[in-house]
Amino acid sequence: MKIGFIGLGNMGGPMAANLARAGHAVTGFDTAQVSVEGVTAAATAAEAARGQDVVITMLPNGKILRAVAAEIIPAMTAGSVFLDCSTVDVDSARAVAKDAEAAGLLPLDAPVSGGVGGAQGGTLTFMVGGAEGAFAKAAPLFEIMGQKAVHCGPSGNGQAAKICNNMILGATMIVTCEAFALADKLGLDRQAMFDVVSTSSGYSWSMNAYCPAPGVGPQSPADNGYKPGFAADLMLKDLRLAMQAAESADADTPIGLAATRLYETFVEGEDGSGRDFSAMLPRFEKRSRG
Ligand code: NAD
Repeated sequence: MKIGFIGLGNMGGPMAANLARAGHAVTGFDTAQVSVEGVTAAATAAEAARGQDVVITMLPNGKILRAVAAEIIPAMTAGSVFLDCSTVDVDSARAVAKDAEAAGLLPLDAPVSGGVGGAQGGTLTFMVGGAEGAFAKAAPLFEIMGQKAVHCGPSGNGQAAKICNNMILGATMIVTCEAFALADKLGLDRQAMFDVVSTSSGYSWSMNAYCPAPGVGPQSPADNGYKPGFAADLMLKDLRLAMQAAESADADTPIGLAATRLYETFVEGEDGSGRDFSAMLPRFEKRSRG
């Protein structure tokens, strides 16, 4: 396929490289003028989008997505797929999809989980919103860039799935970390805590696959000085998107709100910025109740 790829950062760069390696003709654009192996550089976003079968965007936020969409939609060929893999607010995803559809394009919102490692290894999970026909057209690309793609319903539903998942993840990581810090204070050994919880009803991905305690459980960012991994800043971004969506849908999300406030404090008021989101554990370790 002929593919345009806009946003060649930490995630987009390796995703575009994987598509090129698989034999697709990839033309890329990024305002930072990065070069990616196998990807032909375009001078503008519109140039990267013109005449392609599929145009993929992997951008920082909804505002930038809306600006790029306004530029590329008029340049794209009718019937081609506009595949946005960025994590953005549900309202921006739906607004961009509406404009793309009006121009005769096939829009998909397909945010990912799996992080930079997943992007490099081609093992991302895609959560996809949009029409069935568009999903079918993009399916071979999901297979190259990822290991799983779930069709979640109409436009915006991919973003909805992503933020609901990450709201659970943020809240679960916090409570796992505070439970470890409580266990410390109660004199309970961390290995014993892991052995019990990971096989009991408190188990979760945060505990079992990404244990925040160094030297316990599988290898995780905790074993690497809490270098991300999944940065606390990105968790804060996703929690804020969840809160924005909860407000616009009038949903009551008290634990999601508490998690958002804690990551806000950690990232903006403490030393959390640039650290893995599981570095909540050393934060709780140092604290007392008051
Ligand atoms: P990044 O900042 O490394 O990459 C974004 C790229 O977009 C940058 O290279 C930037 O120069 C480029 N860009 C900005 N404005 C542009 C414009 N107008 N036109 C063209 N290019 C432009 O970020 P990332 O880590 O690659 O994340 C991209 C998206 O993926 C974000 O929405 C993020 O939330 C999501 N995401 C990231 C991770 C992760 O672990 N990094 C995991 C899942 C989802």
